[in-house]
Amino acid sequence: MKQAVIGTKAGNFRASVSSLWLMDNTRKNPFWEAKSLTEMSPEEWESVCDGCGKCCVVLFDDDETDEVWETDVACKLFDCKTRRCRDYNNRHAIVPGCISLTPGNVSTLHWMPESCAYKRLAAGQGLADWHPLVSGRRDSVVEAGIAVENDMPSEDNVSDEDQEERIIGRRWPPP
Ligand code: SF4
Ligand code: SF4
Repeated sequence: MKQAVIGTKAGNFRASVSSLWLMDNTRKNPFWEAKSLTEMSPEEWESVCDGCGKCCVVLFDDDETDEVWETDVACKLFDCKTRRCRDYNNRHAIVPGCISLTPGNVSTLHWMPESCAYKRLAAGQGLADWHPLVSGRRDSVVEAGIAVENDMPSEDNVSDEDQEERIIGRRWPPP
């Protein structure tokens, strides 16, 4: 029997990627290489989010196998066109299951996608070439096939039974 699990969100991709990069271009190394996650400023932390949207979809967790399955159904607050939360500041009141990603929990949330920039940095993998901080372009996440689709239905418009029918792949363990 599968059970729906929380959507999660870390940053909201609100910071200006290009200005942050230019700011840190004066350093020998960019901040995501020079600093640990715990050393980043709030603005730097937010800008690490690649805006893929994969933490804002409905997931199902199999309580017998611990597998986590991903659907193409979006959290009720997720805007598929912009890949942003519609009410980031009030999200926890509206979506209680939305978990704030922190340097302290990023390594424990196994169901976050392997591509997640926070997960990659926490694992010492660095940022991928398609990350907006590296490419200088937010669209590079889409071009690399990392971002969620821009036409996902909202969980408000899909019944619980139908949400399970919309599983598109296994999130954990990574396929
Ligand atoms: S999964 Fe994507 S959208 Fe979610 S926190 Fe990680 S990088 Fe940001
Ligand atoms: S409440 Fe907002 S940040 Fe949290 S999962 Fe939903 S869309 Fe994402």
